[in-house]
Amino acid sequence: MSQPFPVMVATDRGKCGQCPAICCGYITQKIPTPRARSDFEHLLWQVSHRGIEVYKDEDGWYLLMHTRCEHLLEDGACGIYETRPPICRDYSNDFCEWDEPAERHFALHFRDYDALLHYCRERFRSWPR
Ligand code: SF4
Ligand code: SF4
Repeated sequence: MSQPFPVMVATDRGKCGQCPAICCGYITQKIPTPRARSDFEHLLWQVSHRGIEVYKDEDGWYLLMHTRCEHLLEDGACGIYETRPPICRDYSNDFCEWDEPAERHFALHFRDYDALLHYCRERFRSWPR
């Protein structure tokens, strides 16, 4: 995907009404491709924080931050529906994360420190064991 995950709203309440608003529960941010050991040391610090993950897909590397949108109402509706951001407007629920988890298309996915540390040790022979 070339854009950060779309964060959108439920326009079809029939379908979205059954979903725990997956798409309003996180943001993503593209990051430079990590290459040097120092790049991965920095990523290790980032994934040490609760709710922070790192993944790579066909478009590059991203930080994934699990954080619920403040406009998401208890019933799963958007509290600013009429003025919601473009990225939310552009997202369709025709085939969304309720149908297929986005991580199925990740080439790499590090959910926590230990997972990324294992990768670093495989990638860099000199990485401390
Ligand atoms: S603004 Fe509305 S549609 Fe967009 S992420 Fe927040 S709750 Fe969801
Ligand atoms: S993930 Fe899909 S079904 Fe769930 S709220 Fe978002 S658009 Fe609706």
